[in-house]
Amino acid sequence: MKIKRITLYHIQMKLNTPFVTSYGTVQNRDSIIVEMEDKKGYIGWGECVAFSAPWYTEETVKTCWHIMEDFLIPLIFQQPITHPDEVLKRFLPIRRNQMAKAALEGAVWDLYANHQEMALSKVIGGEKESIDIGVAIGIKPLEEMLDSINAALAEGYKRIKVKIKPGIEHKLLQGIRKHFPDIPLMADANSAYSLNDIDLLKSLDEYKLTMIEQPLATDDIVNHAKLQRQINTPVCLDESIVSYEDAEKAIELGSCKVINIKIGRVGGIGEAKRIHDLCQQSNIAVWGGGMLEAGVARAHSVALASLPYFILPADTAGSSRYWEQDIIEPEVVVHQGTINVPKKPGLGYNVNRKRLEQVTIQKKNFF
Ligand code: MG
Repeated sequence: MKIKRITLYHIQMKLNTPFVTSYGTVQNRDSIIVEMEDKKGYIGWGECVAFSAPWYTEETVKTCWHIMEDFLIPLIFQQPITHPDEVLKRFLPIRRNQMAKAALEGAVWDLYANHQEMALSKVIGGEKESIDIGVAIGIKPLEEMLDSINAALAEGYKRIKVKIKPGIEHKLLQGIRKHFPDIPLMADANSAYSLNDIDLLKSLDEYKLTMIEQPLATDDIVNHAKLQRQINTPVCLDESIVSYEDAEKAIELGSCKVINIKIGRVGGIGEAKRIHDLCQQSNIAVWGGGMLEAGVARAHSVALASLPYFILPADTAGSSRYWEQDIIEPEVVVHQGTINVPKKPGLGYNVNRKRLEQVTIQKKNFF
């Protein structure tokens, strides 16, 4: 595949409802869509899932644009690509910047799948015909939380994930367990605690959570190992795992029993697959997290979650949960807590160019 053109679209979409985590609130979601065209006229789509501010990882929409424009896009144009696995190797001289890399690599995978006239899920080794879906609910008062959980359960979602932060965790989880004693429930702390909170974190065992996600600092797999030894609740790592090597170290240290794999955070589909395979060999449960993504990254996540060892429900909810109108058609639809993995070539969803233009605030072509 010889790449002829790459177009970056800086888009801004308004979330149906603001999403609150221990870091802060997101309402207007900025992201970057990548369109890649090769000499034969095939198109591939990618999406950069970095947020506007560096509170999830260090990357932002602006840093990703800069890294793509000045460093990664020139590497893509350097020589033809035979297989998408070559892309991350070509990016190796550029340190980290995983979300910028993943956006371009994702577009190459879609392009490649279109060339092969195969579904992206099949090209990457996916086997499932449908994937189970859970919901992530941002921080909100207990009464509203109970309403949200009721609504999600009525729609058939397979598990509930709530965001927690210090000071609200007991009241929230106690309140939820009082009304829903048996639902699969997990809590995501987004690094809001430290080892000083160990007694508090131990006390959360009583809620029988499926897992507690990223309780401690993003760069602290050592303390996560100390914590996991002292609590019964399985620790799931999210922000701490940005590469295969991170996953290897965390597994060796015993820092977690679960890993949440996000394509953007680990720097691409190729790296996500390697982490998936490692977890499978090591009996570490795997599921796919969400990034409040638009349709393109959502489609990539659906394909990834079709790999066999994604054994826990994914956070990839339907488009309509987030957006009045997504940038793909058909939109991603959840039916009774599952998404059917598309069988059509490539992403299996078409980008709605009219909608894409509507939400684009800046666009640039590279040749
Ligand atoms: Mg998380």
